[in-house]
Amino acid sequence: MNYIVLDLEWNQGSRENERDEKLPFEIIEIGAVKVNSAGEITDEFCELIKPAIYHEMHRITEQLIHIQMDDLTAGRPFPSVCRDFLQWCGEDRMFCTWGTLDLVELQRNMEYYEIPPLSEVPFAYLDIQKLFSIAYEDRRTRRNLEFATDYLGILKQEPFHRAISDAYYTAKVFTYVLARKPEVIRNVSYDVYHPPKTREQEVRVVFDTYAKYISRVFESKKEAFADKEVSSSKCYLCHKNLRKKMKWFTLNNKHYYCLACCGQHGYIKYKLRLQKANDGGAFVVKTSRFITEKEKEELIARKEHADEMKKRRKH
Ligand SMILES: [Zn+2]
Repeated sequence: MNYIVLDLEWNQGSRENERDEKLPFEIIEIGAVKVNSAGEITDEFCELIKPAIYHEMHRITEQLIHIQMDDLTAGRPFPSVCRDFLQWCGEDRMFCTWGTLDLVELQRNMEYYEIPPLSEVPFAYLDIQKLFSIAYEDRRTRRNLEFATDYLGILKQEPFHRAISDAYYTAKVFTYVLARKPEVIRNVSYDVYHPPKTREQEVRVVFDTYAKYISRVFESKKEAFADKEVSSSKCYLCHKNLRKKMKWFTLNNKHYYCLACCGQHGYIKYKLRLQKANDGGAFVVKTSRFITEKEKEELIARKEHADEMKKRRKH
């Protein structure tokens, strides 16, 4: 299997009325580096793309990446570059990106041109920004690519914010992470551009420190919460159904929390994120994690705050 370390550059409309709602970010460069299963860089792909929607460079894009429109118009259009890129990737591949945005924009651009999707269901990829945090920091902090490059003492020969150089630096960071802690690649991320449609397509994974469940798409939030598995509080180690110490609550109507205690394994915090599906409806991403006594107290305080807010709104 090959790892495809991908980085994209995109442009956007400069004026409000110029924005195409279906494609707010138009990809103008694809850069990628192939890393084999032994952790060696073996090949690279890089091509500029001739824009079809935004013919003026947005000032942010221009400042950031130093590409001129003239360079782009000499390129090929997205569909043909994308086709060659996917062929170059091969079938047996796993995508790797810095952060979570690139695969979303790649798929949005593919959908716009009616190119068959990368996958009809969620698929695993590696977020190297996250893996860097797990291998070298605290799991939660997210650094920019230049920080990681400096931290690891990687030689900086090319400027940042060009697709191929960012893909190359990301690939270098990845090889360091692999060498230091090969087991971190178990911490895959899931792309949910196409969320599960059926129960069989749902995702259930147990990681080192937490478990994740990605539900199928429901027609409404209400229907999602009515589902047993969505609202349940199970111990992901012994699979016991646990009584909730605290019912589901929210502070922003987007993230929901609840608390339960397994007699054998301790306190578990559940976090549920409601996400809109592109074609309508909503699905949930639920994580369960064992927490310390201190974290438990913090969660209780947060719930009390939520109750207080609710009370105030009623009066
Ligand atoms: Zn348990």
